[in-house]
This record gives sequence, C-alpha cells and structure tokens, in this order.
Amino acid sequence: MALFTKKISAVKVPHHKNTAALASVVAPPPPEVLIPTNMQSGDACVPVVSVGDTVKVGQVIAKAGGRNSVPLHATVSGTVTAIEPYKLTGRAAEAIRIQSDGKMERDPNLAPPVVSDLDGFLQAVNDSGVVGLGGAAFPVWAKLDAIRKNPIPTVLVNGAECEPFITSDHRMMLEHADWIKKGIELLKEYLHSEEFIIGIEKNKPDAIEHLTQFFAEDNTVRVMPLESVYPQGAKQVLLYNATGKVVGPGQRLASLGVIIINVTSLAMVGRYFTDGTPLVSRSITVDGSAVSEPKNIEFPIGTPISYVFEQCGGLKNSPRKIIYGGAMMGKTVTDLNAPVLKATNAILAFGEEDSKKKPAAPCIHCGRCVEACPLNLNPTEFSHAMEIDDEDRRAEILTREQVSLCMECGCCSFVCPAHRPLAENNTAARGFIRKYNAAKKEGGK
Ligand code: SF4
Ligand code: SF4
Repeated sequence: MALFTKKISAVKVPHHKNTAALASVVAPPPPEVLIPTNMQSGDACVPVVSVGDTVKVGQVIAKAGGRNSVPLHATVSGTVTAIEPYKLTGRAAEAIRIQSDGKMERDPNLAPPVVSDLDGFLQAVNDSGVVGLGGAAFPVWAKLDAIRKNPIPTVLVNGAECEPFITSDHRMMLEHADWIKKGIELLKEYLHSEEFIIGIEKNKPDAIEHLTQFFAEDNTVRVMPLESVYPQGAKQVLLYNATGKVVGPGQRLASLGVIIINVTSLAMVGRYFTDGTPLVSRSITVDGSAVSEPKNIEFPIGTPISYVFEQCGGLKNSPRKIIYGGAMMGKTVTDLNAPVLKATNAILAFGEEDSKKKPAAPCIHCGRCVEACPLNLNPTEFSHAMEIDDEDRRAEILTREQVSLCMECGCCSFVCPAHRPLAENNTAARGFIRKYNAAKKEGGK
C-alpha cells in the first residue's frame, strides 16, 4: 500500500497572497444570475419555480434532489427568465436564470432556524444550502450526519488556505470570527464535540492572533499554526499534521472521531443560525496578472465571471488562462458567462507570460514526483499505465497503484524538472478508472 509509508511530503509554492490585507467588499448586484442545479457534489436539485415567477433573495428556487443534495436559493431579487440545460464539469443538469431587479429584496420569511435536537439541527443545516466552500462542495449537513454512526469528539476547522493567491478564508477569519464562533457553539451543542482545532498556515499571522484572542476564554478551541507548505489544507495532510492521525484508503474520517470542515463553510452555517441568511452569496478572491484591481469581493452565487472582472477594474489584457479556484488545483474556465458557484473561492486570470506551459521533456527518472507526493503515490506508474492500450491491464495497474487516492494536488507536476503533465494525466487516469469500474458494475466489462 502506498499511503503513508513515510512522512507526508509537501512542496513550497510561491504564496502570491496579494489580497490578504484588503478588506472584503460587497459588489453591486449583477444584471442576472445563472444558478446551476448541480453545484454540490451530490444529486442535482429540482427546480420549484417556473419561468416568469418573481423571487426574492433567499427564497428556495430548487429543492434538494436526492442523495447528498441541498436546496438552492434565489441569490438576487427579480424574475426567473429561463430554466435551461446546463453542463457543469461534465455533469449535465439544469440552471435557473434570474434577471435582477436591482433591489436585492430579502425573502420576508427568512429567519434564524429554531431547533431543539440533532434531527432539527441537521435539517436546518441542509436548509441553509451550505456545502464545502473550500472547493469540495460536499453538503455540510451530510458531513455532520456522520455523528449518527460515530461520536465526533474532534472538529478540525480548516483555515490553512494553502493555495497560492487565495485569501478569502483568511479574510473570513479576520472579519467574521463571530459566525465561526456560532458554528462552533452549534457543533458543541448538537454533535457534542469537545475539541476544536482551527488549523491556519503561519503565513496568516494576523488571523492566528485574532482568533487566538477571540477564543482565549474557550479552552475547547485551539488555534494551531501550521507550516506554510502545499497542500497543507488537503484532508489527509491537515489531519496528520494537526492530530497525528492517518485516514486509510476507503476509511471514513469520522470513524477516527474527527471531521474536517472548511472555516468559511462553518462561518456560513453560523451566519444562517444568526440572521437566517442561507448560502446566497460568497466572498471570492479575484487575482492574477491579467486582473486590473485584485480584491476579495462578495457576489451573489450565479454571477457571471465577466461581471466579476468588471467589478475588479476589468482585465488588463486578453487573458490566456482563467481559473475557478486556485492556481494548483483550480479548473480552467473558457466561458466568461460561466457563473460563480457555491464552491468558487477564487477566480484567477493570467496573461500570456504566466500561462505559458514549458514543453514536456522525456522523464529522467529522478523520482522527485514520487518524493513530493503527500500520499506516497507513484505518478510515473499512472503515466505508464495510461499508455497501455489493453484497458483491463491498464485498470489493473491503476488499481494496484491506488490512483483513486490521488487528490489531484499537482505537487508531482510542480516539482518535475522535465515539466511532464503528471497532474493532467492523473486526472485522466482517475476518470478512466471511474468509468471502467462503473461499466464493470453494470456488467459491461
Ligand atoms: S496529484 Fe496525485 S500523484 Fe500527484 S502529488 Fe498530488 S496526490 Fe500525488
Ligand atoms: S519528476 Fe518528472 S522526470 Fe522525475 S521521475 Fe517524475 S516524471 Fe520523471
């Protein structure tokens, strides 16, 4: 087994935290929003509004659609103008288009939920529409639901924010410690968790100091400074570095008595229970060499990327690369009409110079990619496997080498002196094995 047979590796990436000192601002409402029904990692939501309906901010526009789903809310006030097919990261679903009336009128029914037991609490977290806001988009209620099978004495609050450029969690920790506190109080009350570790990389000393002082009177909360290395915020890495625990292949984190929750996700749950606002907007970092005025700025979910850039002084030049999320793990976007999603913590745009890929050279078998992998995987084996035409043999090797564990962190590509596209290959290999196994399950293999 590859996993954790030696220390957990990490790489030093340039931080580029250019927006860390800039207080978050709120953008004026965009003319329209496009809200995909499959923004969370579970099943797509089912629209409950029709074209022509008028909606207010926070009103439910789509109900949870099955496994690991959460409802969607209107993020602007206005009129539903379309419910149209929409493909998001390869998954076909629908999207609800709302033309804004510019008023941002709140649904008058919004109020902090009143709950008295675990069922009511989990239902309210579901109703909040909050998902993993660090990028995973896994519904928070479904994560907390693990309490039904395992006691969860320890909650690891992920404030590492190890990706270059992104500072939205950093600003959340500085600007809304009250919401984080509310989230912690709720988990204490309903999950009976006893220990809260807020892991923050040392490159955010102001956040470490602020939260340490904020929670000084609460001996259940510990702010833990972590080395500024990538991928410090990855589940397995953070768990090991903060608690010394290791989650094995296929093992659920909760079975170790731990859950990890992104700090902004926790804050948004806290906010919902404070003022009744479901997840209708979020602050994102907008940065990169093609952005005129990098900043942290809050937009309604569904805001088109073109409007995001407009609110950041426009683009300096025609960008060569636009990314949802971080420079290491983010996904390239080609459509400027694509919307801000729930899990979009940053939108980066880079000019020609910063987007150039160095040409790949043959592998020199230096082993650096293996050395750099936090999970001790062997990306060169994945590459070799992907060159094999026989799909059964390819699947056998990828399974043996545990490609499904790869978290696509990109450390292997980052260190490769031959500039081999290892991370892209890993993504393709994971996609192949997913499809292969699904076909096998259905009897097609
Ligand atoms: S992308 Fe996958 S193989 Fe490469 S370093 Fe990260 S976990 Fe390891
Ligand atoms: S780091 Fe690059 S050159 Fe070195 S072994 Fe890995 S793929 Fe080959």
